[in-house]
Amino acid sequence: MLQLHDTATGRVAPLRLREPGKASVYVCGLTVDGEPHLGHGRMALVFDVLRRYLLFSGLDVTYVSNITDIDDKIIVGAAAAGVPIDEFTAVNEARWWEIVDALGVLRPDEVPHATAYVDRMVALVGDLVARGVAYETATGVYLSVLDVPGYGLLARQPLESLRAGARIEADEDKRSPLDFVLWKKAKPGEPSWVAPWGAGRPGWHTECVVMSLDLLGEGFELHGGGQDLMFPHHENERAQAVADDKEFARHWMHNGWVTVGGEKMSKSLGNYTSLGDLLERGDARAYRLLVLRSHYRSPIEVTPDTVAQAEAGLARLDELARRFDLPDPLADGPLTGTADTDVDSGAVAAFVARMDDDLDTAGALATIFDLARRANAAADAGDTRDASLAAGTASVLAAVLGLPLRGRDDGGLDATTAGLVAARDAARAARDWARADALRAELEASGWLVEDGADGTRVRRR
Ligand SMILES: [Zn+2]
Repeated sequence: MLQLHDTATGRVAPLRLREPGKASVYVCGLTVDGEPHLGHGRMALVFDVLRRYLLFSGLDVTYVSNITDIDDKIIVGAAAAGVPIDEFTAVNEARWWEIVDALGVLRPDEVPHATAYVDRMVALVGDLVARGVAYETATGVYLSVLDVPGYGLLARQPLESLRAGARIEADEDKRSPLDFVLWKKAKPGEPSWVAPWGAGRPGWHTECVVMSLDLLGEGFELHGGGQDLMFPHHENERAQAVADDKEFARHWMHNGWVTVGGEKMSKSLGNYTSLGDLLERGDARAYRLLVLRSHYRSPIEVTPDTVAQAEAGLARLDELARRFDLPDPLADGPLTGTADTDVDSGAVAAFVARMDDDLDTAGALATIFDLARRANAAADAGDTRDASLAAGTASVLAAVLGLPLRGRDDGGLDATTAGLVAARDAARAARDWARADALRAELEASGWLVEDGADGTRVRRR
């Protein structure tokens, strides 16, 4: 049974299911205001691994992750780009799904968009005003957090220190600096929706509480996101649910920072690294492996060194798949168990024990690398039965983590690459070495390692 750290209690505890066999997960998705960064990629990977592991454990999983398609940064970004807001967000969202697919992250079952839920958000804000826990000012409608029992639960800090840390904001009508906006009254020229408090738009914290409860119902199992969302975003989502007398998420899960050069990655620090750049430079599976090597709650460091270490690990696993000509266990979708597979049950049990312990992916990976060593040693010693059992089990367990091993380098080459390979073989056959070298350089520039084999040019992903 999976034991997970719960941010609300600070303890590792079993995931409590509403009904046996089913788990509903809501993960805060992207605000589509620009190019996704490494932190977004880690979030998507961490929760993809959780989702795949729940599926592997035999649960029926409903996974919802939203798109925030209206907020201040979007309004500013669209204006700067000189395009309508819906066009700006559509382009950025398309880019996000391209990256999600490249990372091998399963698409959510549902992707609610904030702009499609405004009427339901207006209804919630109206409820909160009617209950006397929200109030209107000249600039908007705010939630009075001092009226919400347990405020500060997810921040894991007492109200006093939160209050001391709260920024002094321009709106002096707020009763407490911690009170947050539920409805923002529109300034001239801003996009707006109709509401009893005048034209405006919902605050960010209101969208996720409305969409998660609408799609998953009260008491859904798990709400997650990056650690930066614990406070104020998730605290404030929870506050609205509590104030509206709704049972909210049973379990809160947050993944750690991505650091670049030892500092938390952020645009303001100037160490913002585009996820797209990383993926274009190398094999997207290496970033998944890099993420898996650390516990999801720990920070991870992305540097040329840590990327190279992940690539070396991946190369060892791919080499295993090549040696044993292993099939892709993910060809028919995510794994839902090992019932029909020939696997080493002892190794699977060791893997499950690691994963059940708060998703110890580093320990689970160690099980996979042990199997790879065992397979190679057994094959070297002529024990083909144990070698193929260990190799096959390693491949299946890697697939549980969403990491397909690539056994055959020439399988699935895109048309352009296949064309370059064929052209280079033709050039070599014609002893046109200058052209063969130029084609090699072209392949390498597209991220391929080029080798000359007996049967011609071989390429594999760097
Ligand atoms: Zn959210």
